[in-house]
Amino acid sequence: MVHVRASLSQLPAYVPGRKLPGAIVLASNESPFGPPPGVAGTLAEAAGGVSRYPDLNATDLVQALAARHGVDPDRIAVGAGSSEVCGQLLHTVVGPGDEVVFGWRSFEAYPILTAVAGGTAVKVPLRGHTLDLDAMAAAITDRTRLVFVCNPNNPTSTALGERELLDFADRVPREVMIVVDEAYREYADPALVPDALALFGDRPNVVVLRTFSKAYGLAGLRVGYCVAPPDVAAHVRKTQVPFSVGALAQRAAVVALGESAEVARQAALTVAERERVTRRLRALHYNVPESQANFVWLPLGDDSADFAVHCLAGRVVVRPFFGEGVRVTIGLPEENDALLALAATWKG
Ligand SMILES: *Cc1c(COP(=O)(O)O)cnc(C)c1O
Repeated sequence: MVHVRASLSQLPAYVPGRKLPGAIVLASNESPFGPPPGVAGTLAEAAGGVSRYPDLNATDLVQALAARHGVDPDRIAVGAGSSEVCGQLLHTVVGPGDEVVFGWRSFEAYPILTAVAGGTAVKVPLRGHTLDLDAMAAAITDRTRLVFVCNPNNPTSTALGERELLDFADRVPREVMIVVDEAYREYADPALVPDALALFGDRPNVVVLRTFSKAYGLAGLRVGYCVAPPDVAAHVRKTQVPFSVGALAQRAAVVALGESAEVARQAALTVAERERVTRRLRALHYNVPESQANFVWLPLGDDSADFAVHCLAGRVVVRPFFGEGVRVTIGLPEENDALLALAATWKG
């Protein structure tokens, strides 16, 4: 066998949510509403053009995103999902042995992408079910190049407020990149959870990460982006795999952005369902941390696998993190009812 990098041998593979034909899938935090109106028609129209390479610079999409956020286009960098953009950010600042700090548990792509970039992951335990920003700031050394702040945090669903975020950013050296991953922004209460771009996005070391995979309903097309200082964004673009965002993905994302009002309406429905599911689960004596995302976290510890098996037997797929908890995506009302019925019959 060929010589394989030692850092890869210990690396866990990404665990996708299970797909089970005919089952209710509440495992991957996808939108239950399908793609926004207009997307399917645009894809059909554009299908005949796929023998051509896409626009390398995703010009129309970058323009639309810049207009949306009220920033110059030179502050935007796109990638094949915000997972690729995470990788691009790491490749921009991390050299061999450099440290990357993030809370744990958090987004499972962080340790994988950190190792692939040749960095060393520094996992800071959560406090309760929330990122411990004090401990994360204290974990920064002169080898630290990047800190991921997942807000709201996947999979624990909790979010940090303005004061905590600002205090944290003030403590992080200007040479260290702070990446605020806002994959679930559309589901957060803006009165409680600040928009990082508005709060401190103009700082020279802050990057805000967004995706079309969740509320925008385009997970299968792979589009994400970051808003960064112009000099940082220019480097992040260099680390993108050329043409990684396909032509259909670019077109669909522009159409989806134009449907923001509909996306917001759908997100509000999901938030209302999230509150209903939370209330009901608590009434059933489940411990449910306050969610600001499109999923809830059940910290069931060693019972997590058993709960997931019970749900699977009822043809509902949830996402267990063995020994820690179970993440349950909020679906359509009838899907959530199926989950709640199973939660009521589980003998933990
Ligand atoms: C789902 C998710 C993403 C987005 O992944 P894509 O690659 O854009 O599909 C990014 N960050 C977090 C925390 C997520 O949960």
